Amino acid sequence: MSNTLFSEIKIGPLTLPNRIIMGSMHTGLDHSDDPIGRLTAFYKERADGGAALIVTGGVSPNEAGLMGPGAMILNTAEQVSDYKVMTDAIHASGSKIIMQILHAGRYSKHEGLLAPSAIRSPINKLEPREITSDEIEETIADFANCASLAQQAGFDGIEILGSEGYFLNEFTAERTNKRNDQWGGSFANRSRFPVEIIRAIRQKTGDEFFIQYRMSVLELVEDGWNSDEAQQFAIALEAAGVNLLNSGIGWHEASIPTIAMAVPRAAFTWATAKIKQAVNIPVAAANRINTAEIAEDIIQRGDADMVYMARPFLADADFVNKAQQGRHDEINTCIACNQSCLDNLFNNKTVSCLVNPRACHETIYPKINKTEKAQKMAVIGAGAAGVSFAIEAAKNGHSVTLYEASNCIGGQLLYAHKVPGKEEFDELIRYFNTMLNKYAVNVQLNTKANAQQLQETGYQSIVLATGIKPRKLDIEGIDSEHVISYEEAFKNPEKVGQNVVIIGAGGIGFDMATFLMHPHTGAQSIESFNSNWGIDATGKNNGSLAKETVIEKTDRNVTLLQRKPGRFGKSLGKTTGWIHQIELQKRGVKTIGDLNYVKIDNAGVHVEQDGKDVLFPADSVIICAGQESNDEFADSLNEFANVYRIGGVKQAVELDAAQAIEDATRLAYELN
Ligand code: NAP
Ligand code: SF4
Repeated sequence: MSNTLFSEIKIGPLTLPNRIIMGSMHTGLDHSDDPIGRLTAFYKERADGGAALIVTGGVSPNEAGLMGPGAMILNTAEQVSDYKVMTDAIHASGSKIIMQILHAGRYSKHEGLLAPSAIRSPINKLEPREITSDEIEETIADFANCASLAQQAGFDGIEILGSEGYFLNEFTAERTNKRNDQWGGSFANRSRFPVEIIRAIRQKTGDEFFIQYRMSVLELVEDGWNSDEAQQFAIALEAAGVNLLNSGIGWHEASIPTIAMAVPRAAFTWATAKIKQAVNIPVAAANRINTAEIAEDIIQRGDADMVYMARPFLADADFVNKAQQGRHDEINTCIACNQSCLDNLFNNKTVSCLVNPRACHETIYPKINKTEKAQKMAVIGAGAAGVSFAIEAAKNGHSVTLYEASNCIGGQLLYAHKVPGKEEFDELIRYFNTMLNKYAVNVQLNTKANAQQLQETGYQSIVLATGIKPRKLDIEGIDSEHVISYEEAFKNPEKVGQNVVIIGAGGIGFDMATFLMHPHTGAQSIESFNSNWGIDATGKNNGSLAKETVIEKTDRNVTLLQRKPGRFGKSLGKTTGWIHQIELQKRGVKTIGDLNYVKIDNAGVHVEQDGKDVLFPADSVIICAGQESNDEFADSLNEFANVYRIGGVKQAVELDAAQAIEDATRLAYELN
């Protein structure tokens, strides 16, 4: 049989019907009131959606390895029955489930954190203690015990997390392992700990238990290994009894993006291909694989035997079934924004998904939600909030008309997708269009809603989703011809001159600076991404870091201003803000804060800073100073009994697409 995405594969004791692994994700549900119940509902919906092999979020083998207080752990026989609830439910849906064993090492957020050597991670305030050799032996036994308990709980196997800078990876890298006993020094010594763990697990669980290892195929940090060492390590893991090798890309502390939207799709499969060349067991590719087409390409060109996709399963629980049935347009594609998944996690909130707020909330928002009181509804405004509501309400059985004054749907998303590195927003607009059509929403484009007409049509509910309008500033000279809004600049970039001052450094100010300084439109090529970020795609250098970076940029001068003092980019996403900051820095954008605007004239923007008058010369000034609710239409609806507001017209401050879509989904459930 040819190797295609939907061809069967035998891996050690498992036979799977397709080549897609639903990857491990931290969901934050371990801190919920019902961790096992909510996790089971989350996994079960994905199993029902066709995911043949599911990997759980990380479970620690002992107290020291916990990510933080309250994280998942499996180290006693008493816990087995809890996990059995999960495995039984997934098996009943016909899928396999394996448990990821994660020892967080020096990334742990608790006082008892351990590392091979007492070297603090740059992304953790806590200092680790060097693990003793006795504790190393105990930890090996803890891993074997955890795997054996997982086997008793009905898991079909385990994945060992040995990448991204976690504990096992800290042993294998010279960067973090400075030991001079048998667990450090030479390559063989540094590899010893993970290899001994695999041997111990294999011995305890037998040959029929599936073992997957997520190894660091690409480190992207100084004193990380190169591809030769990665290959040798893969060979050692195979010999120790691993059934499948999965690809870990970059340490969490690397200053190169590895999963964000700015990373081209399938950017790192070249590194996986090097591992595949070295071993005989199957190898899985990971990171920025978000469509079935990309996955199919990877398998067909032989870079990997399988693909490991995690966030796409937050975005769409039915990804596999839809892909297999050729319903590609119906897939709600993960756009790699991190906004509701990883950003939530790092803000101590339950993970969800910008494009699918039901993710990890399956017990709160049930999948089937047909109404028994079908209504005739009008939705005013076809931005993210209005469209999401219309789709959800129509799916539930309401008769929905969506009014949009412009000639297309999308609202603010139409600007986001123009920003280099944010092209994935196109996928959301494609999905919206497909779903509006599928659920027969009556979409009225180029149509300004009119209160009298709404009245005459007899709508029972009106949902106001008219969004936002850019904030109008009160600065002398604001009405000059060379002062334009961000909307105008995105629509007509030819109006923007050579020397640009941007007023306002929130998400849109950053986006605008990126838009103006990037020489290309459309998705970046992998080659250009590698040279921009200093990745050595030969894999020969330590950490696969190139000796230099090559930045492509336009020859504009762009200055980004904000009134407040302090760091720029504080309002950007927790896990992506640093990428935008580095991008702008590299392209020479000046960021200046702690000032007051005085006036704008033909010379540029005059500000008062430190008691002095300062001029920032500009032939174009772009206003990105936030937004206000666009509620011009609201007053005309006073006569209506059931008017609901969602998205920007309800609350403009700190509104983003995630908030707008969540708002819409919640209302659609409430109105059932
Ligand atoms: P924003 O994040 O609220 O930023 C507004 C900027 O304008 C701030 O820099 C603010 O800084 C300045 N400002 C506010 N009032 C002003 C005034 N009266 N005069 C002069 N300057 C003023 O708004 P946004 O950039 O329009 O973004 C809107 C929403 O979209 C936000 O929630 C944002 O998070 C989201 N978004 C996110 C991303 C992302 O990357 N995740 C990208 C785009 C948009 P000072 O007050 O210090 O001057
Ligand atoms: Fe993907 Fe964004 Fe959803 Fe996370 S929030 S799963 S990155 S679409």
